[in-house]
Amino acid sequence: MLPGPDEIIECSHCRARHRLSTWASGNTFGAVFWSDGYLAAPMLADRQLITKCSDCSKYFFLRDATVVGEMPSNFGFLADDEDDDGSLPQGLTLEAAEILPQVEEPGWEGYAEALSQFGTGVTDVSLRSLRLRLWHLMNHQRREHPPKYKIDHEAETKANGGKDYSVGDWADKVRSGNVKRRLIPAPPPRPLSVGQQQIFEKNLSELLPLIGATPALPSWVRAEALRELARFDEAVAALDPRTLTGPEAQVVELILKAAQRRDARPVYVSAGGRPQGHDA
Ligand SMILES: [Zn+2]
Repeated sequence: MLPGPDEIIECSHCRARHRLSTWASGNTFGAVFWSDGYLAAPMLADRQLITKCSDCSKYFFLRDATVVGEMPSNFGFLADDEDDDGSLPQGLTLEAAEILPQVEEPGWEGYAEALSQFGTGVTDVSLRSLRLRLWHLMNHQRREHPPKYKIDHEAETKANGGKDYSVGDWADKVRSGNVKRRLIPAPPPRPLSVGQQQIFEKNLSELLPLIGATPALPSWVRAEALRELARFDEAVAALDPRTLTGPEAQVVELILKAAQRRDARPVYVSAGGRPQGHDA
């Protein structure tokens, strides 16, 4: 995953400026897909939707923020020569731009807070994207990684001479199978606390009527939400049997089996990408 130059964006409420990291490239190499639709791809920037303004403390959608400039690229070999100086907005010096607050992804608590801030002032599709993200973030601690190990990014970056483990010699060696990956034990899954479970269930209940908003998500997303709400019979009924063949078959079958054994936890589906027809 190669970084692009930071953009300078303005809060859509108060116009306070922030720096937003961008990625020049990414791929789904090493990606892992889960039954809740979450795709964990180490070489793809996680899809961040909102941030909290460091000035007015309100949440705003990154896609609503005005991009007013760009920092000079630190990776001159990637950029066109003319882009090397960036394009700072008039009156903003490089020194001032460098200390602008960096946009950060809120945790699940932030998404829950943002949902109460936005209220009914956003479209159903925007609400749905926030609720999906909250769902995925709250599920992170509950995920049981089947290999029980995950890639030690720090060790691999070190082995790659300090460069991100996804670029250069190290990545080439990994791709060709010439190195043994550095692995560390994956954290064991933890159930949600009672308070978290209430937020989780409220979120999924309010997500259900939004799943059909245009463009509608695949039927298995509804089934999965119902299953994770422990509404197992409804989950089975919501699955479209026609999806048992074709690109979605793997996830549909896993959701069905988990519902039949009365298991409400997120299920690991596959390494190597998500089924087609889902962009949640
Ligand atoms: Zn603001």
